[in-house]
Amino acid sequence: LLLAYDPARKLARLQINLERAVVNARMIYEILDEEPTQGDKPGATDIKIDRGGEIEFRNIGFAYGSGEKVLDDVSFIAEAGKTTAIVGPSGAGKSTLISLVPRFYDPTAGQVLIDGVDIASVAKRSLRHQIAYVSQQPWLFEGTIRDNLRYARPDATDAEIEQAARLANAHDFILTQPQGYDTPLGENGANLSGGQRQRISIARALVRDAPILLLDEATSALDNESEAAVQKALDSAMRDRTVLVIAHRLSTIAKADKIIVMQAGKVVESGSHADLSGTRDGLYSRLQAYSGGGGEIHDDTTDRQGEE
Ligand code: ATP
Repeated sequence: LLLAYDPARKLARLQINLERAVVNARMIYEILDEEPTQGDKPGATDIKIDRGGEIEFRNIGFAYGSGEKVLDDVSFIAEAGKTTAIVGPSGAGKSTLISLVPRFYDPTAGQVLIDGVDIASVAKRSLRHQIAYVSQQPWLFEGTIRDNLRYARPDATDAEIEQAARLANAHDFILTQPQGYDTPLGENGANLSGGQRQRISIARALVRDAPILLLDEATSALDNESEAAVQKALDSAMRDRTVLVIAHRLSTIAKADKIIVMQAGKVVESGSHADLSGTRDGLYSRLQAYSGGGGEIHDDTTDRQGEE
């Protein structure tokens, strides 16, 4: 515990968080980018979603550049239309794993398959069309609220945008803004509250209307009312999609159809909340114990490789 107050350690964490924020912003931008042809194999074909967007990670290994392995023989299936929660200590490789789905990075070993097809062989653009991403830090630009929502799908109609905002529990507060949907947002939505920014970002994912939703659940606490509003928005966004969520909240985890527990780049446990709560000595139970049984599930020990 004393370690948690070590200033050097705190700084190191801050650095990691900053890098992650940059990666998050890049990932949103690149997922939404219409023409990412770099890295397509010759003859790459458009992806076909014919089983609802099942995602299979098959013996995945990954390292950043020439660095150490960050993922090691990761295998599991995120079933179509279901929610799979990924949990584990900081540095376990959760964000890296989900960034393989839109091919933000390609694995150094193994394959990611969507509906049975290796995504290395499909056109990135078509792949990313099937994916919506909601990050921890909502990323908004200095256009109007409508522009920010339409960015997810340029041909979305006003009616579709409004419908998405209603589902994301954002329509009412948008109407209270000075110019409603045409209200310009300050830099990164500076004139909105944290919970409102999150709901805009969730509404944007709904505008995209993709079968696969990648979600990096926020760890920062909101007040209870905003929290409930955001939760309601997320529930709409998650319905009937294949959801892969980096989960921190016990409520999200308990509701997930499957939980994958990661540590130091490996899957160490998997199953339902009931299955995993039963294994007393497992990491899952220990993570739960750290959280005091309520609210959030996390520990503050950085699980960097070689440190254990
Ligand atoms: P957290 O819960 O803190 O978000 P995580 O489980 O998502 O952590 P990752 O962010 O995937 O873990 O990081 C796994 C490992 O890869 C860590 O050791 C991290 O420092 C390293 N890492 C992450 N991003 C990069 C990068 N862009 N370049 C080099 N190393 C990276």
